[in-house]
Amino acid sequence: MGESDKKNAVQRGNFDPHTVFSKILAEELPAEFLYKDNLVTAFMDIQPITRGHALVIPNIPAIGLSDLPPETGAQMFKIGQKIADAIKASDIPSEGINLFLADGVAAGQTVFHVHLHIFPRFEKDGFGWKLPDRYFTPPPREELREAKDAIVAAMSSKA
Ligand code: 5GP
Repeated sequence: MGESDKKNAVQRGNFDPHTVFSKILAEELPAEFLYKDNLVTAFMDIQPITRGHALVIPNIPAIGLSDLPPETGAQMFKIGQKIADAIKASDIPSEGINLFLADGVAAGQTVFHVHLHIFPRFEKDGFGWKLPDRYFTPPPREELREAKDAIVAAMSSKA
């Protein structure tokens, strides 16, 4: 599937069933499964950022956040929280936990079946965020207000 096809698939609201995660769900590819219910499935990431790195995915092949029924998104977070608690209770090194979701290519999404990452963090684990220069100079309050207005307007038009 090419980039423009992916974009069109999102715009049309169609789902791409041909990702590696669909093959995992169909048990055509092996995975270390942690959890499964009628909405979501969790398994270990094949390339863990840290030991214990897990993924929670919807059982339907939703590409991104906009394709995800809200109750399924809520269940992804609920199970992510449960896995985070379990990691903390286990002997896996963990001084903190990151939950991360990349929605879209620009956000770093590489598998087009939406997924929530859960991974343990500890000092000197080698992971870090690269922040843009603008972060270190907070904008005028007006910029925050304009952004807030744009989001609130879009939220109320969808309500
Ligand atoms: P993204 O970059 O889209 O946020 O994350 C995709 C994640 O899927 C990566 O962390 C990557 O290691 C993981 N991944 C890709 N292919 C496979 C696979 O075949 N099996 C499993 N378990 N994880 C995978």
